[in-house]
Amino acid sequence: MRPNIVLLVVDALRACNLSLYGYDVETAPFLSRLSRLGVVFTNAYATTDQTDPSFTTIVSGRYPIVHGIVHHGPEVTRSEVRTLGATRTTFLQEFLKQEGYVTVAIDWLGRWHRRGFDLYASASELHGKLPSALSRRLTSVAVKTLALAPSWRAYRALHGLAMGLGVCYDKSATFVLEVAARLIDERLRRLKRPFFMLVHLWDTHTPLDDIPAYLVREFYDGRCTQTVVEMAGRIRNAAWREVVLRYHLKGVRCIDEVEPRYNAAIRQVDMALSEFVAFLDDRGLLDKTCIVITSDHGDNLLRGGVFIGHGGLFQRVVKVPLVMVGPELPEGMVVEALVQHVDIMPTLLQIARVEVPRHYYLDGKSLLETIETGAPPRGYAFAVSSTARRRYMIVKNGYKYVYSPSLLDAMDKYGGIWFNDVEELYDLRVDDDDMHNLVKSDPDVASELRRELCSLIKCLTKRRVRLMVSSSARLARAGLKRGGIN
Ligand SMILES: [Zn+2]
Repeated sequence: MRPNIVLLVVDALRACNLSLYGYDVETAPFLSRLSRLGVVFTNAYATTDQTDPSFTTIVSGRYPIVHGIVHHGPEVTRSEVRTLGATRTTFLQEFLKQEGYVTVAIDWLGRWHRRGFDLYASASELHGKLPSALSRRLTSVAVKTLALAPSWRAYRALHGLAMGLGVCYDKSATFVLEVAARLIDERLRRLKRPFFMLVHLWDTHTPLDDIPAYLVREFYDGRCTQTVVEMAGRIRNAAWREVVLRYHLKGVRCIDEVEPRYNAAIRQVDMALSEFVAFLDDRGLLDKTCIVITSDHGDNLLRGGVFIGHGGLFQRVVKVPLVMVGPELPEGMVVEALVQHVDIMPTLLQIARVEVPRHYYLDGKSLLETIETGAPPRGYAFAVSSTARRRYMIVKNGYKYVYSPSLLDAMDKYGGIWFNDVEELYDLRVDDDDMHNLVKSDPDVASELRRELCSLIKCLTKRRVRLMVSSSARLARAGLKRGGIN
């Protein structure tokens, strides 16, 4: 039988805070152990810096410029959604479903993200037993109480009580993966068909105010060099300042506390992941299931002393974890080749032995060959910013080049913060945190990469137009045919 596939996307989890990727604090000991059973990609890049376009890329194998969804949330225009349809972009779950997979997603993004799933619901919807108003009140009380838990044992006891009452909180991996396990146990594992499950975890996304106290204590030593309110005073855009204070950093007093809380959130995911994998093992599913762990994008948290979230194409935002473990994959493999989110969909289709129709265009390539030979799927990594008007990135030959046509195009629309410059060049071999812009000192490398980046943007844009034209031509032919029959 074909393997089951579990795709876990941990929102806003940057690779550099994982011990597995060389972080000097042990944030995710279980993930480190799990990764030794499979393949770790040490140079995996997102294709954008926001959730909607990134999720769309992960399941479509196409760059945002090609599938059309470039923005996030309310910023996504009708035209972008129309482009997604007009390019006939087809999702991983749609291909898998056609070949007999049962497809489920635990997620709440909704809209086009629902396409191709037999069951699409948030963990709360899947678990909720109480009338919604009462459930919401109980959830709010439960989350506040859980955050005060002084120990793992107390947290588990309170969590069990909350689950028993029908409360469920989508932000906690403990809840979400417990619901996922229950779903597999009760509805999926006895089916005669393999399943594909997409799980969207949110713990590492701000706000980080509900991370249990006992976990925060493990990472935060109580230092306070500056308060969040003082830091926010340096944010120029008043609206963004309010959003930072009321949402992103609510419940956080000092800026020194932000990264330790983020690390505690990573540990919370790691502990829940450990229990989920133990569950799969206990039910005899581990040998039959391919598990992929990644994030949609990373996070800057604070940069230059100011909170800027996950805008921009900084390494902390675009470099993501990617771990694959499964029956079709080798153990203990580390792959250093440049790979991207676009490659996940074709890799999983190959693992599931599902062929993509020959006419179907993909930017991504299956990574099974890369795993075998070490050869990269392409010579570069490419990304487009979702938070600036026009901002693009190429990583090639150890360099990273970021470009906007003008200063106005380079501005982050959330923070009102200007990115480093219109053009940026970094030598990633010695500067993997975009600290030293080499555009002026290395103009030849910069202009060569600018040429390549511009030609890539042109090429991908043309590809989108071609896909739209060919699908509308196909529709027209089908219309003519129907007309003929009638
Ligand atoms: Zn996200």
